[in-house]
Amino acid sequence: MTETVAGTGRHGSAQVDAVIVGSGPNGLAAALVLASAGLTVQVYEAAATIGGGTRTEEVTLPGFRHDVCSAVHPMALASPFFRAFDLAAHGVRLRQPEIAYAHPLDGGRAALAWRDLDRTAAGLGRDGPSWRSLLGPLVRRWQGVVGTALSDLRAVPPDPAAALLLGLRTLEQGTPAAAVRFRDEAAAALFAGVAAHAIAPPRRLAPAGAGLLLATLGHAVGWPVPEGGSATITDAMAARLRRLGGQVITGTRIDDLADLPAARAVLLDVAPAGLLTIAGDRLPTGYARQLRSFRYGGAACKVDFALAGPVPWTVPECGLAGTLHLVGSATEARAAETAVAAGRHAERPYVLAVQPGVVDAGRAPAGRHTLSTYAHVPNGSVRDVSDQVAAQVERFAPGFRDLILARHVVTAAQASDQNANYVGGDISGGAVNPWQLAMRPVPRWDPYRTPLPGVYLCSSSTPPGPGVHGMAGLHAAHRALRHRFGVHTDPLELLRAATTTP
Ligand SMILES: Cc1cc2nc3c(=O)[nH]c(=O)nc-3n(C[C@H](O)[C@H](O)[C@H](O)COP(=O)(O)OP(=O)(O)OC[C@H]3O[C@@H](n4cnc5c(N)ncnc54)[C@H](O)[C@@H]3O)c2cc1C
Repeated sequence: MTETVAGTGRHGSAQVDAVIVGSGPNGLAAALVLASAGLTVQVYEAAATIGGGTRTEEVTLPGFRHDVCSAVHPMALASPFFRAFDLAAHGVRLRQPEIAYAHPLDGGRAALAWRDLDRTAAGLGRDGPSWRSLLGPLVRRWQGVVGTALSDLRAVPPDPAAALLLGLRTLEQGTPAAAVRFRDEAAAALFAGVAAHAIAPPRRLAPAGAGLLLATLGHAVGWPVPEGGSATITDAMAARLRRLGGQVITGTRIDDLADLPAARAVLLDVAPAGLLTIAGDRLPTGYARQLRSFRYGGAACKVDFALAGPVPWTVPECGLAGTLHLVGSATEARAAETAVAAGRHAERPYVLAVQPGVVDAGRAPAGRHTLSTYAHVPNGSVRDVSDQVAAQVERFAPGFRDLILARHVVTAAQASDQNANYVGGDISGGAVNPWQLAMRPVPRWDPYRTPLPGVYLCSSSTPPGPGVHGMAGLHAAHRALRHRFGVHTDPLELLRAATTTP
């Protein structure tokens, strides 16, 4: 019989099979997989509400519901976890903007990524064929692309041809070779804008890979916005978990493993810094040293706006886009991201804006709108950059400032007060570079298993990294099932079987 992870049970004394710390999408994904195997599961969450990076709250004015972290969910639509845990069947309505993302440019122009690849190419003039040849082959094999990018980065890719296509294009877009792909500003900016999601200068390997994955999903499955807000995703996960007998305990921050009830497995949806605190001096010195040298990355200053009306974009089609990348040309995107990577604030920062009202009128009182934005800033920044954010919106939508009814700002330095995983305001669970994507949190064949028997890490600080996809939780739970409970069934099969019943 497997030994239990010792706990005095300060936060609960009855023994359970598995305890999860943290109710972000990865923590709840892990909990659902374990509960699907028939195990008793308890989830402990520090905040008053569940969901981690998927919370939706009225942070500005009554009736204005803002996604305070994640807002757009191509990965929740495409990931193997969420294809097995059917969100639609659990009542989550993912609404599709006609334009996945738009990239306005000075002079009343914009590059538009329509759901439809051909329509997108047609709008990019002489760069249209280059856009199509960059993304078309990936779009055709999108499940293979996702299977590689959201894997534990340790398995043979499920579709080697898709992995090769993705790898070759990442090499092209992640190096100076990218310069020859596009001839005009619009297409180059469109790709730079999506690559910059990684909070790293475009034309490096990791942002190029992230950009290719996200751009592929834009055409393959869309960039949807959940009706009612991102919280509906984790609310649906928690509801199903409870039906499977799992418990979710909020308002309980775990600072020591000993405070947990005895369990055969403990899965931590926390950053490496959180693991260091919770495990304390139980961790071997070498492993603890590696965790301490884990690099956190660029950060976000989050700004939510309550608006008196829709954003008055100069280019009307921008009003059809769920997401907008506000920075200007590819050269400006590179300059802004290079400044952040060097620890400086960009004068005109890269701003990611989401306007859920395009497909979900219920986010604000009639005629009103919410705009969810964040600007990339250096890790640990204490600066409120909401004026720079408003200036970037105003640049492409004159009159925007006149519509602002209220704004709510969370600086990078304040982000960890809401969620301890955002160390210094890093929203990606660690710097996004090729080494740290594959080797997060430490270079090990099994990155989820800690040296403490039965204790696993399952957050976005493990492969495959950031995003609301549930895959880190799935991969960690898969290991815990095998090592601690002798269950060798495919976890996706378990999940499907346990969660498809009404
Ligand atoms: C501003 C912002 C915008 C984003 N936009 C998008 C987007 O549009 N689309 C997308 O896919 N992704 C987006 N992301 C990223 C995405 O939200 C994260 O990658 C994802 O939420 C990570 O999930 P997780 O379960 O690993 O961690 P989290 O979602 O961070 O959840 C961790 C949970 O653990 C809890 N916790 C931590 N320590 C303890 C402790 N000691 N005791 C108890 N509980 C603890 C935290 O309170 C939190 O609830 C965004 C993130 C941010 C911050």
